[in-house]
Amino acid sequence: MNRRIVLASRPVREPTEDNFRVDNSLPVPKPGPGQMLVKNLFLSVDPYMRGRMSDRPSYAKPVEIGEVMVGGTVARVVESNAEGYSPGDVLVGYGGWQDYALFDASSRNTFRVDPSLPLSTALGVRGMPGATAYLGLLKLGLPKTGETVVVAAASGAVGSVVGQIAKLKGCRIVGIAGGPAKCAYVEHELGFDVCLDHRAADFAEQLRGACSKGIDVYFENVGGKVLDAVAPLLNHGARVPICGFISQYNDENPSNPLSVLGALPDPPAYRFFLVWEWPEDYPGAIAELTTWIKEGKIRYREDIVDGLLAAPKALIDVLRGANFGKKVVRLEE
Ligand code: NDP
Repeated sequence: MNRRIVLASRPVREPTEDNFRVDNSLPVPKPGPGQMLVKNLFLSVDPYMRGRMSDRPSYAKPVEIGEVMVGGTVARVVESNAEGYSPGDVLVGYGGWQDYALFDASSRNTFRVDPSLPLSTALGVRGMPGATAYLGLLKLGLPKTGETVVVAAASGAVGSVVGQIAKLKGCRIVGIAGGPAKCAYVEHELGFDVCLDHRAADFAEQLRGACSKGIDVYFENVGGKVLDAVAPLLNHGARVPICGFISQYNDENPSNPLSVLGALPDPPAYRFFLVWEWPEDYPGAIAELTTWIKEGKIRYREDIVDGLLAAPKALIDVLRGANFGKKVVRLEE
């Protein structure tokens, strides 16, 4: 049988472990033509999963009650009916919260994994979150030498890469993170110019001090009070790629960054984006990130927990900021 974690009920505000259920009722699936049976090795834990648990109108359809939770996985091919793929090949795709899954060779979200770096990184720094940082920053943020770039969730999967790429482009980088340990890591290990704790009582004042020339690029990851502090500091001509607004994901009436930015007297260039909107550039982004990691230009941190059953708490932790680095569940030693 195929062990799966399915959605048991829709959360009200913060999810709890009771919103998930382990299901062993289905057999391991059989691959059809063009498909592969894969064994999941690592499961990515991402903030967007909170959105899929809800049936609020969204860009993506929700997970139905009783359906397996959606999730990116690094997986090994067990059986293949797809030309060019053989048992033992390692791929990244959307295998979900389960031991076994079917991958479609034709899916635009399924890629081979270069085994010369740790496999789990194909879910983080050289995977979907890394590409989100790369594409969102370079396509929409358009950072120029000498500009000030601000990013929150700065120790996390996306934010850590945003800041390091902006640094490679010659910008001054102000990170924002929760607590002194994360801020020290962002400054000393990732090389941001400064990192501020958004929990500090005088956070808005500290941000004003750290951005004496204003803000040219704000890469929006969190929304809420961080955005409120950033908005008055945006320079004329500033760019705000809106990647997400995690501080609001558990809220019944989320405050949307569009309304805050649109109400400014001199609004920046801003819009929501999805990492998948540049499919032709995605493989190149992963390739360049991989090169930068190997050259030591991009550093990363992972927060790995063991066993499929650890996935629900892992997601709850990400939404609380209790992760430190890219959250991944290891499914097999
Ligand atoms: P992270 O690894 O950064 O983990 C989430 C972090 O968000 C937490 O560790 C915490 O960091 C921070 N956070 C949580 N609650 C709050 C809060 N109330 N105020 C401020 N910060 C908070 O996650 P990702 O890097 O995977 O995701 C970052 C953002 O990117 C999310 O908004 C996500 O939805 C978005 N995203 C968008 C994509 C797209 O295609 N548009 C693709 C991938 C991600 P701390 O403790 O430092 O506050």
